[in-house]
Amino acid sequence: MHPFRRDDALRRLADEEFDVLVIGGGITGAGVALDAASRGLRTALVEKGDFASGTSSKSSKMVHGGIRYLQQREFRLVYENLAERQRLLDNAPHLVTPLPFLIPLFGRDGVVSKTVARSYASALWMYDLTGGWRIGERHKEVGKEEALTHLPTLTTDHLVAGFLYFDARADDARLTLTVLRTAAFEYGAAVANYTPVVRLSTGTNGAVNGASVRPDEGDESSDIAIRARVVVNATGVWADEVRALDEGSDPHAIRPAKGVHVTVPADRLPCDIAAVIPVPKDKRSIFVVSWPGTDLVYLGTTDTDYRGPLDDPACTPEDVDYLLEAANNVTTSHLTRADVTGVWAGLRPLLAAPTKGGHVSERTADLSRRHTVNVSADGLVTVTGGKLTTYRKMAQDTVDAVVGRLGESPRRRRCVTKSLPLIGATTKTRDPVALAQPQSRLLGRYGTESRAVLAVAEGRPELLEPVVAGLPYTGAELVYAAREEMACTLDDVLSRRTRATIQRAHDAMAAAAAVAALIAPDMGWDEKEATDQAARFSESCQKELLTAGLDLR
Ligand SMILES: Cc1cc2nc3c(=O)[nH]c(=O)nc-3n(C[C@H](O)[C@H](O)[C@H](O)COP(=O)(O)OP(=O)(O)OC[C@H]3O[C@@H](n4cnc5c(N)ncnc54)[C@H](O)[C@@H]3O)c2cc1C
Repeated sequence: MHPFRRDDALRRLADEEFDVLVIGGGITGAGVALDAASRGLRTALVEKGDFASGTSSKSSKMVHGGIRYLQQREFRLVYENLAERQRLLDNAPHLVTPLPFLIPLFGRDGVVSKTVARSYASALWMYDLTGGWRIGERHKEVGKEEALTHLPTLTTDHLVAGFLYFDARADDARLTLTVLRTAAFEYGAAVANYTPVVRLSTGTNGAVNGASVRPDEGDESSDIAIRARVVVNATGVWADEVRALDEGSDPHAIRPAKGVHVTVPADRLPCDIAAVIPVPKDKRSIFVVSWPGTDLVYLGTTDTDYRGPLDDPACTPEDVDYLLEAANNVTTSHLTRADVTGVWAGLRPLLAAPTKGGHVSERTADLSRRHTVNVSADGLVTVTGGKLTTYRKMAQDTVDAVVGRLGESPRRRRCVTKSLPLIGATTKTRDPVALAQPQSRLLGRYGTESRAVLAVAEGRPELLEPVVAGLPYTGAELVYAAREEMACTLDDVLSRRTRATIQRAHDAMAAAAAVAALIAPDMGWDEKEATDQAARFSESCQKELLTAGLDLR
């Protein structure tokens, strides 16, 4: 029995009885599975698509306190976020790395408005005091010249100075996968992707006691009934749909907010760290972020109310223009749609609760990023809201509720994830310069498992060559994704095990047939299936680019 192979997991889902069944394989569900399994609970997790295929591969990829939440006077939230950021830096130093942020300051005649400078300075002091300093550096003011070394195309007419502060970053999809692999390899959780929950089951007392999943798309005869003492709904923006399976109607507890990012070549918008830039006529900022190991940067995010289908939120031409215009407003890069090499759109699972003074906020940007754990009358435990950064705390609160439902001793089932290293964690290298070196690239994605990735290329040196033009991913990484990371489709490999699709969509499409042929033996695909996978992948990429108003080239 392999700890992370779908067929083996499906057999276990059918045969075993679990203490906890987690629905949803984004970062929240992954965190809950790891927390539960590491407390010694028999744990299963099912995901309807690929792991992290919902919001958890589409974030801004920051592990941060969120300076802007200080403006919303959410001091406790920022404190908690920063504590979690620090734990992630300790428990997953291979995946989570410090990232300096530049806030450029603009003014007239070489002078910044005193009010603006003072408000940034006090926010940054507050950030440091709330826990920001624990990253090892405090914020500092920098001159115009230093600001320009980080973002050289900043317009110099009004640039006066800047602030630098420190947060962290992570590849969201790989973090999610690593949490799941840790739950499976280290603590025996049964974990399967492409197994949507289609029904919840209830016992004679009416309490939820399991769920049915459909592992073969559209084929009812493939349904598996999973038995579990407690079921956790960790389905992000889909949480209301799963609650409706239990409660019979949609509770409308989630207010999805769409956020879009675009990728552009670094030679068009050079940036060696992250920069916070204002959006003209909108009281918000966006980030320009370097992408280590590539010659790319990304820009994001938008933040708009969303009422469309949850499964495939689209990036529109207006979203793209919003981001490019914001960058063009403060730089001389003159970005156009033709510069965009990749896009992604995600939905924030925000809580649709009134915010200030009982008034419902109109702007999704003003909605709280807090989380809640709700236990229904039938015992379904639902966790909603939160952030990538706070997944561990969300999981702890959720599993505390599960332990309560199970009637187990909270002391015997204490949470251990505060200092639980994720698989691959050994290096304590935090130097962003060192981590950006090519030899550190694998370490920054797989940690100690890099050895296993390199072993794939033993006797096949051609697998050490990059496969997608302009990106560093080697054939060995793609084969490893197929063999060891439960990738089931070409899209899983190119969009989440590697990030080729959102980095260089056109090049990913050009490489699709070759990648499909390369991984076919490990995927069990014949020639026709490999060709179909490449065609399906390219079709969905093309649709995404055209919807965003971008050329196919
Ligand atoms: C644009 C944007 C930028 C963001 N940036 C940041 C950031 O920089 N830092 C940060 O900390 N946070 C950030 N966030 C927030 C963070 O990404 C989310 O809070 C987090 O990813 C949500 O994870 P989740 O597991 O709750 O949801 P998801 O990742 O959506 O996971 C839910 C999963 O449930 C599955 N599912 C649904 N229905 C079923 C079913 N019936 N059966 C089985 N499975 C099902 C879905 O397929 C999905 O994979 C950002 C969010 C967005 C949208």
